[in-house]
Amino acid sequence: MRVCQTLVSRLLFAGTFAISGALCRGQNTTADVAPVIDVHVHAMDESFPGGGPMCPNEAKFLASDPKTKEATFGWDVENCTPKLYPSEKGQYIKDVKAEMERLNVTAVVFGDEAGVKKWQDAMPGRVIPGTSFSEGMTPGARVSLDKLRQEFTTGGFKVMGEIGLQYEGLSPSDESVDKYFALAEELDIPVAIHMGTGGSGRANITTPKFRGSMGNPLLLEELLARHPKLRVQVMHAGYPMIDNMLTLLQANSHVYVDVAGLIWSYPIKEVNRYIQRIVEAGFEDRVMFGTDQMEWPKLMTYSISLIQNADYLTPEEKRDILYNNAARFLRLDTHEKK
Ligand SMILES: [Zn+2]
Repeated sequence: MRVCQTLVSRLLFAGTFAISGALCRGQNTTADVAPVIDVHVHAMDESFPGGGPMCPNEAKFLASDPKTKEATFGWDVENCTPKLYPSEKGQYIKDVKAEMERLNVTAVVFGDEAGVKKWQDAMPGRVIPGTSFSEGMTPGARVSLDKLRQEFTTGGFKVMGEIGLQYEGLSPSDESVDKYFALAEELDIPVAIHMGTGGSGRANITTPKFRGSMGNPLLLEELLARHPKLRVQVMHAGYPMIDNMLTLLQANSHVYVDVAGLIWSYPIKEVNRYIQRIVEAGFEDRVMFGTDQMEWPKLMTYSISLIQNADYLTPEEKRDILYNNAARFLRLDTHEKK
């Protein structure tokens, strides 16, 4: 078993994870790879514009001086290995599809109708569609309530997200967006809300309305009190506000977290400490795997490996995080029996 695990981790960057996993069990088909649900993928049709290689878990949010022109990207991507690379132009969806098939991943894919449809057409059966009430990238621009209702009643959408109010400096309990959450509660649609992480480490430059304080998980309390049947996915697990996150989880049993973004963008010890704390505080059945996939196709295999190689998780907890918890949250009728 240990030999297999070593083999798997060594082969990750050679892109042979699923094959090696099957080989370890004496099998040779990807259909035998245990299923994974990624609850946090974005419906990009190209690698994120202007992006480049990324060094997972090597974040150094370096200082800069406001007297000089500040870089918009806070990570040191030059001096590290390994790097994950974007796809060639026109190849992104094809590359991610190959990864999802190889790793047996089904994903909640967030975007507008046209964007998500491209993904559904490219990989039928592997996409759970999600959309939200933000209109494009303009802060404060909203989709009409009627359109959103149509998308969730006849349009086939299953999850309301990614809701990025923090980037607008708004609390999720802000009254101006309450009607959308009321709709989600009425239609019994889970909502996925960005809470915590600041993306590139330069949110103050790239998104001047972003407020760290609006990622405080306890800001969800008023919303949850107003809508007691709302099922909430706290995206990025409210990182780094662990105490407030645990307080919210303890008080509200409909709340789940995803580890997307967080899992690869902070130093590995910090990531493991954060996830371990949530699990060991008693919330292991509410932690869901996610990537925040938007640019680097090999991010999925990399992120799955972090859960599979976490020495603080039991095999059962790994399966719960990689699949069972999301299946329960999303009410898929296929979740594995313990
Ligand atoms: Zn997010």
